[in-house]
Amino acid sequence: MKINRYAYEKQFGPDVEELFDDIKRMLLVGNYVLTKEVTSFLKNFAAFTHARYACGTNSGTDALILALKVLNIGPGDEVITQANTFHATVAAIKFVGATPILIDADNDTYLLDINQLEAKITHRTKVIIPVHLYGKPTPMPEITELCAKYHLSVIEDCAHAHGSALNGQFVGTFGKIGCFSFHPSKNLAAAGDAGCIVTNDEDLYVKSQWIASLGQDGQNNHVVLGFNSKLDALQARILDWKLQFLNKWNEDRNRIADYYTQKLSGLPLIFQRRDVNEVHAYHQFTIRTKKRDELMAFLKSKEIDAVVRYPIAIHLQHAFQNEGWVKGDFPVAEALSRELLCLPVRPDMTEDELNYVCDSTLQFFNT
Ligand SMILES: *Cc1c(COP(=O)(O)O)cnc(C)c1O
Repeated sequence: MKINRYAYEKQFGPDVEELFDDIKRMLLVGNYVLTKEVTSFLKNFAAFTHARYACGTNSGTDALILALKVLNIGPGDEVITQANTFHATVAAIKFVGATPILIDADNDTYLLDINQLEAKITHRTKVIIPVHLYGKPTPMPEITELCAKYHLSVIEDCAHAHGSALNGQFVGTFGKIGCFSFHPSKNLAAAGDAGCIVTNDEDLYVKSQWIASLGQDGQNNHVVLGFNSKLDALQARILDWKLQFLNKWNEDRNRIADYYTQKLSGLPLIFQRRDVNEVHAYHQFTIRTKKRDELMAFLKSKEIDAVVRYPIAIHLQHAFQNEGWVKGDFPVAEALSRELLCLPVRPDMTEDELNYVCDSTLQFFNT
């Protein structure tokens, strides 16, 4: 049996012809840029996260850059994030000219280790970017409390966490700005690159719209320096269509996570910690073992598409070789990069498929 990570044909539902007709109409009429489809999706996605405003971008990476720009972050400023994130989080900090300050991950949650945060805050620190990694929400009240004490802003990297919530509040709304990606690999997938920011602050929303559209407040009226990062109308139409299924998919991801957790509980594996007050979006379902590479090779030989997110911690990436970080700086992030494996967690996975993944994993440990 072949177990793929994605099945895009399953993401559109039975009435997909309606969407195809609409895309055809948009293509022929020329509805490409900042159309009512874009407005509609952003309004609906803001409502989904219970935020007041959403501003579209080209990608999740651009959403992070835009968020930093809107908060006037630049050279001389320090931005704190975690060593076990995706490249884009740290690249965005570098792109605006600020200095990334890394913190190690918590050994049980894989999220930014709150206990190490206060010691890293200096008079230059401006922003903290927690990453809701794999869809597990970061303990935000602790972070927002610290930020209030030191007058810092919070930008949430929500690229894994569409629909994740803590104490009934959706991620993206705890800090000043939440950044989402709709890359085809994410829980809500465009047919290419797309992203957005969400915020409850009207002033930040207006500025973010200016900066994302070449600084324009209305056509040809360039009020600030901007760059060009828009959510395409065709992508917005597709995202608006898929948004109707997102809650169901997240429930399915949780069903799959429960299934894996139960079936694999007897094995020498560690699971990402679960907490009662959270909604986990299970962008990834991770298992942790010192035999990670052998297990991955075995699963691949069984045509199961298990992957590593992420095999090299930020501080050991060539791109950041001049930041002064060395091996051993962030031991938990390094251990996670060696030990974590992501099992397929497609919302449409059947019981047969889940059993096959579980049986193959059991077989690896029992032989
Ligand atoms: C995917 C991702 C991003 C960037 O999103 P893109 O849309 O691919 O630019 C940022 N942060 C994290 C944690 C991600 O996984």
